[in-house]
Amino acid sequence: MQPFVPKRAFFEPAALEYPLGREIYDRLQKLGVEIHTTGSHNRVTGIPGKTPGEAYREAKRTLVVGVRKSNEYAPCKPSAHYQLPLNTGCSSMCEYCYLATTLGKKPYIRVYVNIEDILAKAQAYIEERKPEITVFEGAATSDPIPVEYLTGILKRTIEFFGVQEYGRFRFVTKHARVDSLLDATHNKHTRFRFSLNADPVISRYEHLTPSMAERVEAAGKVARAGYPLGFIIAPIVHYPGWENDYQELFRSLDRKLPDSARRDLTFELITHRFTKRAKNSILAVFPETGLPMDENERRFKYGQFGYGKYLYTAEVMAEIKEFMIKQIQVYFPEAGIDYFV
Ligand code: SF4
Repeated sequence: MQPFVPKRAFFEPAALEYPLGREIYDRLQKLGVEIHTTGSHNRVTGIPGKTPGEAYREAKRTLVVGVRKSNEYAPCKPSAHYQLPLNTGCSSMCEYCYLATTLGKKPYIRVYVNIEDILAKAQAYIEERKPEITVFEGAATSDPIPVEYLTGILKRTIEFFGVQEYGRFRFVTKHARVDSLLDATHNKHTRFRFSLNADPVISRYEHLTPSMAERVEAAGKVARAGYPLGFIIAPIVHYPGWENDYQELFRSLDRKLPDSARRDLTFELITHRFTKRAKNSILAVFPETGLPMDENERRFKYGQFGYGKYLYTAEVMAEIKEFMIKQIQVYFPEAGIDYFV
């Protein structure tokens, strides 16, 4: 897959006062990206798009470079203590993106150049909680890999956590461009997670993302670089023949993962679900979507934040759970299963 090159970029003037801001500016200029300025990274005007689909696609090709104010970090229960705000958004176009309802109608990509301030704040949280370990999640509002070749922020963060006695880092990606991170001094303090799916699900719904084979290949490289590894298999979609396709995913992981990676390996399993709001925003952007979103075939469950979601029926959930857990037991008997939902 080709690296992501934005069609346009917006800089906050203050971002150019940071060395990283100027480096990103130079890199974008060399790539021939059209560059504008914006008063605030939170309110960017000038991204075209007359229809919801057009606005979405144009925003996905827009990079905004800004300075993160030193607000408190959002909590990130239950998998981590805090979100680490490195960037937001992503250049891919997964129909069921977990950010679809949070980033608005123009989900542009945003990166922050004051990485040293961001890490200093993380350090303060770590100091406050020590000797407890404090865990930070780096992908709560983004996929951090597509813009990494422009910023190097992720590598800097991994190396920061590499020397933290009481701090740990984790993030997740659907992307495979991991080479620049393989020689980072991580000291096993970063859990590198990949979001995976059966190949037909990826090609049907995860537009502009690497194939299953590319992600599995990247996971093998990351494992050989000694990182603790994790896999989120999500969303698990139930359709005729789904078992074969998901079994193929486990088989290819089994072929590519070295033995050393299998003992400290985690799986997170999430079945496909949707809210009314997510369904409406998916239909606005992908009117032809083939995602299974018929409420009559689902079980409605009230969520903890006051909105309900449509899950598979209890029978389908039980079938998926039994099959997936069995696959993990067969191919990766030493791995941990963090949760199945
Ligand atoms: Fe959303 Fe992740 Fe897909 Fe990017 S790769 S569009 S963040 S689900």
